[in-house]
Amino acid sequence: MRFILVLVFYLTSLGLAQPRVGTENGLTRLVFALPAEARFSLSRAGNELSIRFQGTPPRTLRTLLNTPQVVGYRVTPSPGGSIYVVTLRAGVRYRTLELPNPRRLVLEVRNDANTARTSVRPQSGARAPAPVVVLDPGHGGVDPGAIGHVREEEVVLQVALRTKKRLEAKGIRVVLTRSTDRHLSANKATDLGLRAAMADSKRTLFVSIHANAAERSAQGIEVYYFGETIDQRLLSKAILENGGGALGQRLTQEARSVAQRLMRDLLAQANLKFSEQLALKTLRSLVRETGAVSRGVQTAPFYVIRNARIPAILVEIGFVNHPVEGQKLATDAYRQQLADGLAGGIIAFLNSGNAQR
Ligand SMILES: [Zn+2]
Repeated sequence: MRFILVLVFYLTSLGLAQPRVGTENGLTRLVFALPAEARFSLSRAGNELSIRFQGTPPRTLRTLLNTPQVVGYRVTPSPGGSIYVVTLRAGVRYRTLELPNPRRLVLEVRNDANTARTSVRPQSGARAPAPVVVLDPGHGGVDPGAIGHVREEEVVLQVALRTKKRLEAKGIRVVLTRSTDRHLSANKATDLGLRAAMADSKRTLFVSIHANAAERSAQGIEVYYFGETIDQRLLSKAILENGGGALGQRLTQEARSVAQRLMRDLLAQANLKFSEQLALKTLRSLVRETGAVSRGVQTAPFYVIRNARIPAILVEIGFVNHPVEGQKLATDAYRQQLADGLAGGIIAFLNSGNAQR
C-alpha cells in the first residue's frame, strides 16, 4: 500500500456497518454487507458515484480514505435506507459485483485513463491479472523445525510442492520461498524477514506452512492470521515459530507491537479481514480433504506474516509427534490430501471476490 491513510472520522458511528476497504496496486475495493431484502441502484455524476440502498438502516457517516483511486465517501439517510456517495479520483474506472452467502456488494475502483465502465454481474467480467500465490514452507537447512515421526522442514516442503502443482494446474502462478531443503539465512530473523518480504503487494496472497509438536495427545489442523493473543499457549507457539529461545521472544515482542499498531490502521484491519476469510476457507477445505481434527482459526503474532500487505495466513498442518497423525504426515497419500485441501481453500478464496488483486 503506497498511500497514507490521512484521516477517518465519523459524524455518527453508533450501530453503523461500514464497507470493508481493501487496496492493492492500482485498485481500491469497498465491500458492503447487504441484508437479504436490500435493494440498491447506482448512478454517476462527474467524479461522484452514488449508491442508493433501500432496506438498510439510515446512516450518517463521512469517511476520508485518500487512496489513489478514492477520495472518500459520505452517507446520508434517504427514504427507506441510505445513500452512499463515493468520491472518485480522476482517471479511474469502476465495476460492481454482487456476491451471495453472505450477500455483498463489491465496488472496485481501478486506475484507467481510457474507459469507465460498469457491470452488475456476479463474478463475471473480471479481467484481473492472474493471481500469484506465495507458499512458504517453514524452516529448512540449518533449522529442521519440529521433529517427531517426520521432520517439519521436510513434510511442509513436500506439501508445498504438491500444493504448487495443484494450483498451477488451475492457472495460478505460485512462488515458493524455498523449493529445496535450505534456509534463506542462517540468521533466523533475517530468514523470516526474507520470507515475509515475498508477501509484497505484487502478489495476491501468502500462505506459510508449518507443523506442530506437543508433548501429549494433541492433533489436528490450526490456521492463523496475524494479530495479538493473550493465550499463553499461542504465545509459546509463536515464540517457537519465530525462532525459539531469546530470539523467538524478541521477534514475538516485535510482532506484538506491530499487532497493536495495526489496530489503529483501518486499511491494515481491512486486509486482516481478508486474511481471516482466507484462513476460514483454508481450514474448512483442509478438514474436508483430510478428515483431520479442526483446531480452529485464531490470531497470533507470527513474525513472518506481521507486515503482509496481502491476505496472509500461517497453517499448522498437524502434529509430527502424534502417534497416528505423525505417522500419517510421513505418507504420500496424506501429504496429497493436505495439498488438495490447501489448494482448495486458496482457490475458494480467490473465487470469492475477497481476494485483493
Ligand atoms: Zn514451524
